[in-house]
Amino acid sequence: MCGITGYIGTEPAGRIVHQGLKNLEYRGYDSAGIALAGETVSVYKTEGEVDELPVPAQNDVACGIGHTRWSTHGEPTETNAHPHTDCSGDVAVVHNGIIENYEELKAALRDQHIFKSDTDTEVIPHLIENHLADDVSLLTAVQRTTAQLEGSFAIAVTAAGHDGVVVAREDSPLLVGHGENATFIGSDATAFIEHTDQVTYLESGDIARLTREDIEIYNAGEPVTREIETLEWDAEAAGKSGYEHYMLKEIHEQPRALRQAISGRIDELATSVDLDIDLPAEYLRSIEEIQIVACGTSYHAGLYAKELLEAHAGVRVTVHIASEYEFGGDRDPWRTMVVAITQSGETADTLSALRNAKRAGARTLAVTNTLGSTVTRDADDTVFIRAGPEIGVAATKTFVSQVATATLLTVHLGQVRQSITSQTTTELLESLRDLPGAVQQILDREATIKDAAETYADSESFFYIGRQAGYPVALESALKLKEISYDHAEGFAAGELKHGPLALVTPETPVIALLTNASAAEKTLNNVNEVESRGAPVIGVTSDPAATSHVDTTFDIPECGPLEPVVANVALQLFAYYVADAKDRAIDKPRNLAKSVTVE
Ligand code: GLU
Repeated sequence: MCGITGYIGTEPAGRIVHQGLKNLEYRGYDSAGIALAGETVSVYKTEGEVDELPVPAQNDVACGIGHTRWSTHGEPTETNAHPHTDCSGDVAVVHNGIIENYEELKAALRDQHIFKSDTDTEVIPHLIENHLADDVSLLTAVQRTTAQLEGSFAIAVTAAGHDGVVVAREDSPLLVGHGENATFIGSDATAFIEHTDQVTYLESGDIARLTREDIEIYNAGEPVTREIETLEWDAEAAGKSGYEHYMLKEIHEQPRALRQAISGRIDELATSVDLDIDLPAEYLRSIEEIQIVACGTSYHAGLYAKELLEAHAGVRVTVHIASEYEFGGDRDPWRTMVVAITQSGETADTLSALRNAKRAGARTLAVTNTLGSTVTRDADDTVFIRAGPEIGVAATKTFVSQVATATLLTVHLGQVRQSITSQTTTELLESLRDLPGAVQQILDREATIKDAAETYADSESFFYIGRQAGYPVALESALKLKEISYDHAEGFAAGELKHGPLALVTPETPVIALLTNASAAEKTLNNVNEVESRGAPVIGVTSDPAATSHVDTTFDIPECGPLEPVVANVALQLFAYYVADAKDRAIDKPRNLAKSVTVE
């Protein structure tokens, strides 16, 4: 999920790979490492920043690979940092993504191989070691290895005595840069942008052998050719993969983030989930209430989680703004589980709420994006959302990944508590599987949303309405707009309008209505009538063609079962983005806001 770089040329590789890692730092990471390969392989790692990584001094070695890690399996320690090696230390691998079947592979390898780390990645060098023992080329060994891997990956492999680097990708991005007498590797072009603008994008399933002057690419065992393209970006644009802002890049990363969130966690037939929760089943069966504590966007994900958990996990759920939370009201701490949702794992208000619950004797579960963060140490158990690093201050991909993870948690609890039917399980899990594709369809319709945003950009006040799961999405979409456009925006439960806020509705206040399946669209249409008769323009977000005739502008979204409001959220992230862009706001760093709020 984080960064890969590499170099094969004539210059000392250590310095170039180190600079490549510096270039990739903007993505965020928790540890880093380099391997240089000549007659032998030397590995350098750090638990800290790239600057703390020694620039390898082996000046004669002209081939190396480097990695910045965003941990998904195993704490961010020096041992778990990449590159990982085989038993002999002759094969070094860097990897982005997740190997879903690593436990199975590790179990089969364990008798003959010594594992040093807790990562999923480490199975790869050991599998390669096995294949190299058959006296095959490094390319063949990697081909045979990738055939054994399930999941998403981009890998780069070096081995002592083997010329060049072998790379492979499945899902995760990887590209090759062509320099003079040199070949570069990057998970994005920033890794080597100062050296060349001539690049080859590898496709999913590609395996390539790279030497200083040559690149051979294979897919499904057959040689293939891929075009050499000229990058038209400068270094800054390359950091954002050509997008104008990190926020837009991250909005576009959502299909991948969602795939990572569910990767390896749903069985083939969509009948069960594996979330790796250690809290005992007996305890999970005994709880009478779940209290969710969170702030901002995570709080909205918590409200969505409540919809799912109460409906399917047979448990009462209350959602608390973390800064207001006190464990109390005569609750039985033994029968109350407190779930803390925090992207960074460092949100001071959420940590303080969690500690309050622990003092009272309740058990706690963290839902976070960040391995090794404070919340993971404080809580009894943790579920990771695996969204990858998020740089834009306004949360986007972490919200959808939080909701996806909450859906998995709902099925897990529902099954343990025997409160979910097999039909609902399949419905929820299939909705989850359809989500990345449905989100992609919204991204493909970006131009229509941009047009609408430009039409409404002059408004200074926006209302969002929704019901059921559409309600947290209305709150979240309003928050997004206010954070980055500085316009007044508020989300309401649709039925509440007539109890007060309707007084504010005029022809100058666009109303955005969540008319998604799971949010009782029909009733919300009554509220649409209420605001239209006060002259307000209405944008309807819906998968139902019949709803279109009731609104001024429609954002069509694909049907996606119970998680359809998440798809609507993505359309409204784009709407917020383009309204703010039309106003030329500092989208990635909105005034007065910080990404990780570490003060109470
Ligand atoms: N799953 C791997 C790990 O946790 C790779 C993470 C990454 O993409 O940085 O080490």
